[in-house]
Parts: sequence; structure tokens; C-alpha cells
Amino acid sequence: MNIDKSPKLLPDDQYNQVLVANVSPPGWKNPQPSGRYNLVVIGAGTAGLVTAAGAAGLGAKVALIEKHLFGGDCLNYGCVPSKSIIRSSRSAQDVRLAGDFGVRVPEGIEVDFPAVMERMRRLRSKISFHDSAMRFRELGVDVFLGEAHFAGQDSVEVEGQTLLFSKAVITTGARAAEPPIEGIAEAGYLTNENVFSLTERPERLAVIGGGPIGSELAQAFQRLGSKVTIIQRGGQLLGREDSDAAQILHDTFLREGIRLLLKAKPKTISLTGHGAVILYEKDGKEERLTVDKILVGVGRAPNVEGLNLEAAGVRYDKNKGVVVNDRLQTTNPRIFAAGDICLQYKFTHTADAAARIVIQNALFLGHKKISALTIPWTTFTDPEIAHVGMNERDGKERGIEVDTFVRRLGDVDRAVVDGEEQGFVKVHVKRGTDTILGATIVARHAGEMVSEISLAMVNGLGLKAMANVIHPYPTQAEAIRQVADMYNRTRLTPLAKKAFSFWLRLCRLNLKRG
Ligand SMILES: Cc1cc2nc3c(=O)[nH]c(=O)nc-3n(C[C@H](O)[C@H](O)[C@H](O)COP(=O)(O)OP(=O)(O)OC[C@H]3O[C@@H](n4cnc5c(N)ncnc54)[C@H](O)[C@@H]3O)c2cc1C
Repeated sequence: MNIDKSPKLLPDDQYNQVLVANVSPPGWKNPQPSGRYNLVVIGAGTAGLVTAAGAAGLGAKVALIEKHLFGGDCLNYGCVPSKSIIRSSRSAQDVRLAGDFGVRVPEGIEVDFPAVMERMRRLRSKISFHDSAMRFRELGVDVFLGEAHFAGQDSVEVEGQTLLFSKAVITTGARAAEPPIEGIAEAGYLTNENVFSLTERPERLAVIGGGPIGSELAQAFQRLGSKVTIIQRGGQLLGREDSDAAQILHDTFLREGIRLLLKAKPKTISLTGHGAVILYEKDGKEERLTVDKILVGVGRAPNVEGLNLEAAGVRYDKNKGVVVNDRLQTTNPRIFAAGDICLQYKFTHTADAAARIVIQNALFLGHKKISALTIPWTTFTDPEIAHVGMNERDGKERGIEVDTFVRRLGDVDRAVVDGEEQGFVKVHVKRGTDTILGATIVARHAGEMVSEISLAMVNGLGLKAMANVIHPYPTQAEAIRQVADMYNRTRLTPLAKKAFSFWLRLCRLNLKRG
């Protein structure tokens, strides 16, 4: 059957045409299903692609079904486009601050917003081949375009065809949750699904939600020339992070001119001749904010609708997604789930790691557990905030006593000469031991630095051992070794100190006599 419902991605330029040709090829012919599949994968985002490619590579007969765009959020509406415009915004900021480095830019700066977005589209289309439907067909996967739903405990329907499976995996991801604000639907708003189609810069932008997506995009748009206001219900940006890390971002945002409305609750939105008017409540008072566009980033809603999960005996929650056990198996033992549809930590790398677990557990009777993973994450603001393992609050909640070692970037030579002193490396160890329980890094490239700590945690290397790692001088990652040195200094007991100084005195005496 020929499928020709290719979506048009706006703007319909050469780059988006290449993207669509890769991720939702016009005129695609679905294969004829033959016999039972080892694995049917529903959804071709990161989790689905990794599961399908891995399973097919091991010789399984695999079907992969996608209703919209191969590559899912990450390629089309998430990581790739956001990091691309963040990079442009970073350039703009570097030029703005060039004077601090003795480099004068006499004419001021001008951001060519359409060029920023075109660069993003060019890079996204370049990357898209890797996730293309054609590539997966060449890997031996039966690729179906269309919306899938379960027809029973071991069958799925797509475009009028029935696919039988031994095992299936639900990898249908999540979408932007709509905040319950009166008038928002009528006024219209941006989410991650349409913000990257903009070709004109919004002069006044309200970002509702100060989590990772809201914070990253708010800073990027402000640096690209928009006047940004963040409206956040909670009292700090990035509610999941330690308050000292969030405070650095808070101060940075204020310095860069972003308006922060914390503990603020939008109540109604209406369209007027001057823009969208947001009526919000803050400190018991009602106030108004008028903007050109509203971007919403208040969390993710799992894509459970339309799958007919009831027919398959798969339990789910409309807000939390498909219910899975530690082995990522749903309430139907034949059916697994991976990625944003079921995981608390909604990241591309967790979707990837979960997919690898599903391959082993679904096809090879494995017993891999999602709880065994050490999951880092990074919010790609400037500075970046990277985290792995436990934070202070987790420790308190679980009654685990920790010792915490912190090195401020103001004491790290490379950060000083780079003018990037806002940040720190903070490592928590189990009290009285060097077992690393978690870390938070705030630094311009914290996301690159945190993997060193993840490596240590995954391999059971204690903080003591990290002091033995020679870091090139000067690098910001030296802060990690310096934290390890701090830990080692605490191991120097008064008795050991006394013994050392006795030995050294002896050496001096021997030298005199000799
Ligand atoms: C703006 C933004 C920035 C982000 N940045 C980062 C980042 O920097 N780093 C990071 O790690 N993560 C980031 N993320 C998160 C990351 O994009 C997701 O965690 C990741 O894409 C999840 O992959 P997934 O496969 O679970 O789901 P998705 O990528 O959402 O894929 C699910 C797929 O299933 C398809 N589908 C749904 N229902 C059906 C059906 N019934 N039949 C067939 N197909 C169906 C959908 O069309 C979609 O293609 C970001 C997200 C956003 C929104």
C-alpha cells in the first residue's frame, strides 16, 4: 500500500524537504507483513529506532511503525534543533561580551534570526539521514508508515494491515502538556513542535515554565534578541536541581535581561490588537503581561491515546504513561515499553539505554533492570547544569548521610582565564567512605565534564581514585581532581599527620649528621 500523507514541515524550504524525504518519505510503500514478527516496535523516535536497529542487527524479524516523523522529538522538535539555536545564541552572547576580553566590536551586534533558523534546518536535515526510514529498511527492518493500534494481546494494526508479534515494544514518546489556562487554546501558543518553524523573531516572548526546556529556549531567544519573560509556578528555575545551581542560572538570566516571574500563576490569556495578554497572579496580586508569542514548556504528556492499550491488556496512566516493571515489561508480558512513554527521566540517552534493556529482556530472556542504570543529565543553558546520581535532597529524603565536597570555579585557573567563574563541581560521597553517590556540575561545558564522574560511579571507582587521574593543565575538569584532593585531605588523621611530621623531622636530622 502506498502511503502519501507526508507532512509538510514549515517553512517548506530545501532543508525541510530533505528532512521529510528522510523521515517521512512521500509515496512510501508499506511492506506486506509475512508471518509473526519477533518484535513489533511502535514509534520511531530514539527508543524505537535503537530497539529496531539493535534487534534487527541480532537477526530478529522486526517491524517498525511510525505515524509522523522518523527520529521523533529528538531529531525533529527537540535536542537537535534546540542545541543548534542555542549554539547561535551563544555566539551572539560571546560577541556581546567580547569587550570583556579586550576585543572591541564597534558597531554592536545584529542577529539575523532567519539565518539562525536556516542554519538549524540545514544541520537538522544533514543529521536526518541517520534516522531515515530508508536506512532502517536497509538494516532489514520492515518499515510501516501509519498510526498503529493494538488489535489484541499479540497483534497490531496499521493502515489496515495486521501484524502478529511474539513481542512488542511501545515507544510512542510524549508531547508538550497543555497548561490549564483559560483562553490559551484560542490565543494560540508555541510548543517544541512549532517553535522551530519560526522564521521571524518574536519581539516579546513569554515562556510559561522554567524547567529545562523552558530555561534553555528562554535564554536562547533572549540572546537572539527577543525580550523574554519566564512565568514559573515554583520558587526556583529548574525545580529538580539543587538551589545553589539554580541560583547561578537565576542570576545569569537576570544579568542577561530575562524577566523572571517566579511563584506566578497564569490565569487567563486573551488576544488584543497589541498582542496576547496574560493575566497572572503573583504575591496575591493580579498583573498583566503583553507579548507577541507564548511558548509553553510545563512538562510532557505521554502519547497513550489511540493505541487501544485496553485491547492488549496494557495498564497506563494518562499523566505518567505506560506502567512498566523494573525490566520494562508492561502488564502484558509480551509487551515492553521504553523511552518517554514510560520513564521518569525523559532524555534521549535514557530512551537509548532503555531500548538496549528491552532488546535483551524481550528477545533473550534477560533480566536487565532500569533501576540499575546511572543516569546523568544536562540542561544546556549557559552555564550548563549537569547532574548524576543523588543530590542533597535525595540523600535527606532517603536518610542517607553524605559528605559533600565543592570546588568553586573561581578557584580553577582555566575558568578564571576563560572568564567563566560562575559555577562549581559538587560531589557527594557516602559519609565516611569515598563511594560517590552523586554530583552536580555548573560550568559552561558541564555536560562534557559530568561523564568522568558517571564513569567512576558506573565502575565503582571511589573519589579517592579520581585524585590519581592527571588532568591536563589548564582545564576546567581539573576541578574534579581538586574535589578528590579535598576528599583525600580529610583522610589525613591527626595521628597520620603526627607520624608524617615525625618522619620528616627525622629526615632533616639525618641530613645534618650525614
Ligand atoms: C525542546 C526539547 C529539547 C530536548 N533536548 C534534549 C537534550 O538536549 N538531551 C536529551 O537527552 N533529551 C532532550 N530532550 C528529550 C528527548 O527529545 C526525548 O527524551 C526523546 O526524544 C524521547 O525519545 P522517545 O523515543 O521515547 O520518544 P519520541 O522521540 O517522542 O518518539 C516517539 C515516536 O512515536 C511516534 N508515535 C506516537 N504514537 C504512535 C502510534 N500510535 N503509531 C505510530 N507511531 C507513533 C511519534 O510520532 C514519535 O515519532 C528534549 C526534548 C525537547 C522537547
